[in-house]
Order: sequence, then structure tokens, then C-alpha cells
Amino acid sequence: MLIFSTISAAAAEPKRVLLLHSFGPQFVPWAFFAGHFREELFKQSPDKIDLYEASLEGARFQQPDEQGPIVDYLAALFGTRKLDLIVTIGAPAAFFVQKYRAQFFPSIPLVIGGPEQRAINYGTLTSLDAPVPVTLDFRKWIENILEVLPDTTHIAWVVGASPLERFWTEEFRRTSQPFTDRISFEWFNDLRFEDMLKRISQLPPHSAAFYVDLRVDAAGVPLDRDLVLPKLREATNAPIFSYIDSYLGSGIVGGPMLSSEEVGRRMAQAAVRILSGESPGDLKMQPVAIGVPQYDWRELQHWNVSEDRLPAGSMVRFREPTVWQQYRWQIALMCAVFLLQGVLISGLLYQRRRRLYAEVQSRQRSAELAHMNRFSTAGELTATIAHEINQPLGAILTNIETAEIMIKSPTPDLQEIGEILADIRRDDARASEVIGRLRSLLKKAPFEPKHIDLNDVVRETMQFLSALAIAREVGLTNFIAPTPLPVKGDLIQLQQVILNLIVNAMDAMSGMPSAERRITVTTARDGNSAELSVSDVGPGIPVEKLKEVFEPFFTTKPQGMGMGLSIARTIVEAHGGRLSAENLAGRGAAFRMRLPLAAPSGASETMN
Ligand code: ADP
Repeated sequence: MLIFSTISAAAAEPKRVLLLHSFGPQFVPWAFFAGHFREELFKQSPDKIDLYEASLEGARFQQPDEQGPIVDYLAALFGTRKLDLIVTIGAPAAFFVQKYRAQFFPSIPLVIGGPEQRAINYGTLTSLDAPVPVTLDFRKWIENILEVLPDTTHIAWVVGASPLERFWTEEFRRTSQPFTDRISFEWFNDLRFEDMLKRISQLPPHSAAFYVDLRVDAAGVPLDRDLVLPKLREATNAPIFSYIDSYLGSGIVGGPMLSSEEVGRRMAQAAVRILSGESPGDLKMQPVAIGVPQYDWRELQHWNVSEDRLPAGSMVRFREPTVWQQYRWQIALMCAVFLLQGVLISGLLYQRRRRLYAEVQSRQRSAELAHMNRFSTAGELTATIAHEINQPLGAILTNIETAEIMIKSPTPDLQEIGEILADIRRDDARASEVIGRLRSLLKKAPFEPKHIDLNDVVRETMQFLSALAIAREVGLTNFIAPTPLPVKGDLIQLQQVILNLIVNAMDAMSGMPSAERRITVTTARDGNSAELSVSDVGPGIPVEKLKEVFEPFFTTKPQGMGMGLSIARTIVEAHGGRLSAENLAGRGAAFRMRLPLAAPSGASETMN
């Protein structure tokens, strides 16, 4: 029981890890490494972790071997609690641990996190030390600036004044040496931060700045990592480049980048392996090298750097989403609505075209029907027309015979022959007038509204029908209004309507004794309308059929087509009028046509 409880207590004991910062938890880039390390350690470790953090702070100003007070502090803190692992961030902290290990942390393994390979003194490493280094190629950064901005002739290295930064400044100086024939370099480590801001705002044309790190300025003032870069970016008149991806998005253009996440992850891997029992000396972690070039799209735009200049395989981040990416759904929806609307409009237009086409067709059909109807009416009139033409022809013949006799006389009376010839001419004119009227009735003409007098139309139609009335023994009376009834209409079509009504009336009375057959045609003005009525004394129309008589194909006649009244109504309605039927009080039917009165004709139009 006792053994068991001891074992389970040991199992429940968390692993104590000390994270020792070189300058303080806020200094970059180490703060980035530390952040990712913490996250990864808790994620990867199978054991519970008790993480302590401490900072050397003093390394900003002095060498790590002058760290008296911090040594005492750590000794007090971990005198009784046994540490399982120390993880240092940055080279000064690593030097510190190596120096004081024998005194305070004997046999405690050490992960040396994130030092540049050049800063590691491999000769001093023991089997307890596991470095997780990074390797930085300064040359590549200079070459990257020249690739992206080939006109560059001046580079300002923005770097601080701490001992470590001074160390790196020397490294940069050496790396810059081969480029001095085409580029002039300057170093900010002797400036106070205010002077750096001033200087960066006045760099010569074709300059670039390279932001290394800025922990402490020449006056010994530690600088707030979150403010330094934005302030420099605000002041600068040249693009700023840098080397670690954590700065991307804070105002640097970009370039080949060190991944701080990768450094943090590798440190955590090393820590977990050591905590699980592996020997630190055996780990041999590969250094983290700078990775694919990354650029901030907004900075590229700002400094007019074309994306064509970026090295192959570069990543461009912070690209502002295009309107399409931003409003994809809205745009898609709008397009869908437009499309639907388009389809609907096309559909409607198609329907409209079809309707117009159908209307034209139907108008053509009704014109053809009307024409056919006129033919059938003309057929009805043939006998009377023949009679009408025969009369002048007979008179012409008689006159010619008389003239022939007169010519044969020894003293022909030329004056009388002249009169005879005038008679012949008049009779001929009469005959051709009859034919002309018939021709115009049968003419297939388009609907041509003109200013006409309804009274004239009636008079002319009556003339047409007078012979038929005689032949069919029908009394035809008309009462024409004393003043003109100007309407706008098609003479032939209106004639057709009147002809139809009168012939129908004659048909209706055909079974009656001839003495009783009587048709009365009246025209009158009624308000704004011209009215025409055709009444007969026939049997009338059965009340229930009063509407039906206007339907196409309604007929009660054995040879009837049933189209006359339907066509007549169509014609009247096309003239903006109305055609109706009624039975008269005594007997007989009356058909009434009302047409809107038109203003008297203009100078350009003729009154028929
Ligand atoms: P159709 O003359 O070929 O029959 P209509 O359309 O002109 O065609 O006439 C349709 C029908 O209306 C006629 O068959 C007839 O029954 C009736 N009708 C027309 N006019 C009169 C009228 N004046 N009196 C009685 N019935 C009439």
C-alpha cells in the first residue's frame, strides 16, 4: 500500500520547467518563440507541466556574467523545489545557465531555445545541453531587397544597442561588405529612438530599411515591442524589410522569413523528449532555417512593388479580398435575380411578340374575311348591277343607231349629232361609275381611316342598292340628317357595314307580301356621336338571340355564312363605335351604329 501511494504521488507530480528569458518576456523575436513554445509544450506534453518564468533583464545592459541578484533570486526559488528542465530563450540566458549550473542547477537538463547557430559555443556544451538553434543567412536578405527593388542604393539597418545587438551589428557589417560597391549602408545602433524616427523619415532616394531588432536604444531605453515597428513604419520614407514572420502585418514588406512558430514547436519537442527521459546530449535538433519568402500585400501596394518581382514560390499575405470574395453571396444572389428577371423579361418579350404576331394575323384574317364577305354581297348585287349597266349601254346603242341614220342623210344636222355624242359620253360615264363603285367595293385595301361624312357614305350605298331594292320589291326610304356627320373612317368598310345591314333586312322580309316590305335608313347626330339605324318590318330577332346574331357563324339562313354581322361589328369597333340590335315596338328589327364624331377635316385631308 505504502509503495503504491508513493508511486501514484510521483505520477501526479507535475514536471517543473523554468523558462528563462534573456531580456524579459516582451522582447522580440524571443517573445514570439516563447509564446509558441508555451502553447506547444502544453499541447505536446503527456505530463502535467508546472511552468515558471524568469528574465535576466540585466542582459540588456551588461554581460551575462554580471548577474548577481538574479542568481540569488533563482537560488531562493528553486532551492527546495527540484526543477526538471530549464529552457532558455536567447543566447544570454543560455550563457547564464551554463555559467551558474554547477552552483545552482547541477544535473538539470537545458534546452537552449532559438540562438543563432553562430552564437553557440559548441565547445562548452555538456551532455545536459540540447540546443534548438536557428540559422540566419543575412546575405539572402540583402539579395532579396535587391531582387524586389533593384534600384536600391542605400540600406539602413535598424538595430538596437544592447550587447547582443552590437554583436549582430558586427555580423551584419561583415555580411554587407561584398555589397558596398553598389550599396551604401548605415546603422541605427548609435541613435536614440527619436533620432531613429527622424533619420528613417529622411533616407535618401532608393533606400530600404532592414528592421533587425530594437530592444534598447543608444540611450539605454528599452523599447516597447508593440510600438517600435508601427512608429518606424509611420515615419519611414522607404520600405522596411525584416526577417521573422511574426513582424509580417506590422508594417514590413517581407522577404525570406524565419518561422517563429516552427522555432517554438521544435523547442517544445526537445523539452517533451527530455522530460520523457531522453538524454539532452543525444537530441541533435536540426537548426531552423529561414523559409519561403512571404510578403504583405498592402506594403507591396504602398511601395509600388510589382508582384512579378517577387521570387518564385513567394507567399503574399493580407491580400485585400476582392469585391467578389467579400460579397460573393450577395453578388451571386443579385446575379440570380438579374438572370431570373432577364429570363422573365425575355419570356414576356417573346409572349408579346407572339401576341403582336397573332394580332397582325387576326387583323389580316378579318380583313380577308371582310373582303370575302364583300364578294358575297357583290354576288347578291350582280343582277342589279347588270341591270344598272345595261341601261346606259342600251341608251348608248340607241343613240349610236340614231347617229348612224343621221350621218347617212345628205345634210346631216351636225349640232344634233354633237348632242347625241354628248349623251353617249354621259351614258358611258354612268356605266363606268357603276363598275368603278363595284371595283372599289371589291378592292382588297388596307384599313385607311379618313375624314368622311357618314351622310355621304349612306347616300352612295343607297345608290348601290336602289336597283336591288327594286328587284327584291322592297321599299327603301332614307332620312339623312340635314347637317354633315363627320367621322373618321374607312369609306369602303363603312359601306360594307351598311350594305350588310340592308341586305339582311331584305332577307328578313323575303317571306312577306311585297307591298309590306319596307326598310328605313336614318342618320342623325346624337351628342358627340353620329348615329345610323337600319330598320325593317320583318319578323324581328328572337330576344334570346339578340346578342348571338353578332357571333361568328350564327345564321338562320340555309345558304348563310353567319359572318356578316360579326364582321360588321368588328369594323364598327375598329372605328371606335358600337353596333347593336333591337326589336321594334310594332314589328321588325333595327340595327344601330354609333360612331364618334370627328373634328371637321384638316386642309390636307379630303372629305368624301
Ligand atoms: P348571314 O346573313 O350569313 O346569316 P349575318 O351575320 O349577317 O349572317 O346574320 C346572322 C343572322 O342574324 C341571320 O342569319 C339572321 O338570323 C339574323 N338577322 C340579321 N339581320 C336580321 C334582321 N334584320 N331581322 C331578323 N334577323 C336578322
